[in-house]
Amino acid sequence: MSAIFPKKSLGQNFLMDRNVGDKIVAAASVSPTDIVIEIGPGKGALTSLIAGRALYLLAVEIDDRLCNYLQERLADAANVEVRRGDFLRLDLEAEIGALRQRFPQTSAVKIISNLPFYITTPIITRIIENRSLVDHAVVTVQKEVAARFTASPGSKRYGAITIFLNYYAQMTVLFDIPRKAFRPEPEVDGSVVSIVPRAEPAVKVSDEAFFFRTIRAGFQQRRKMLRNSLLSLGVGQEDLERALHEASLDPTLRPERLSMQDFARLADSLREVAQQKIP
Ligand code: SAM
Repeated sequence: MSAIFPKKSLGQNFLMDRNVGDKIVAAASVSPTDIVIEIGPGKGALTSLIAGRALYLLAVEIDDRLCNYLQERLADAANVEVRRGDFLRLDLEAEIGALRQRFPQTSAVKIISNLPFYITTPIITRIIENRSLVDHAVVTVQKEVAARFTASPGSKRYGAITIFLNYYAQMTVLFDIPRKAFRPEPEVDGSVVSIVPRAEPAVKVSDEAFFFRTIRAGFQQRRKMLRNSLLSLGVGQEDLERALHEASLDPTLRPERLSMQDFARLADSLREVAQQKIP
């Protein structure tokens, strides 16, 4: 096993601390009626802990060497499939559909991972896109990134991704993992994050795509006042001022101070005020 030299390019930092592994798996409350998908099992620090508790585990690993190693190591575990592949290319709908059919007793589908940090955002976006299929995800991300996922309005780390994630899911930072728990040590500490998709988005908006356009426009010029930063949406100054007034928002505020609810009100009133004019 020690012959498997870690590839930095694949975000290979292997968890060495069994207690931390136990804590991650406990945080996902894995039960004997759960199907779990593990992203990047690596050398299996979490894999056997999950397999010991779950109904079935599909572990998707991109690195052939680790796949071979794990397939051999877990050859006797009847409830585990170690799949060679790129999680980002996995057809989650088809995979989860097939697993649910095979295991009709399934009560929940969960995702667990010490994520390869280099693709944190695409992986989490994919989980959110497939939120109707996934009941709970517990993933380790870079500590600073976890802070962005749960940042408060006005703080340095608050941004479009904060609102996007919290709109669709309940996001919680559970605990930190010091870098020294991994080999090789990454350059940053980690945080374990819980993602529970919401049955309904956190706020109601009349036009979701426009809501997100408004947010992106706001954060592209986050240091400007609202009355200027949102002109890039293609609305006139007058319409913008009116929409801000109707949404009870001070036009001199910076977009980074707006909560998700504020952005929702603003996007809705902009849509109403400038109806036909927004490209
Ligand atoms: N789970 C192991 C642990 O906790 O020790 C390994 C964690 S390591 C941070 C990330 C793992 O993800 C590596 O094994 C890496 O090869 C794998 N990986 C990287 N990119 C991947 C991808 N696109 N799809 C699936 N696995 C990937």
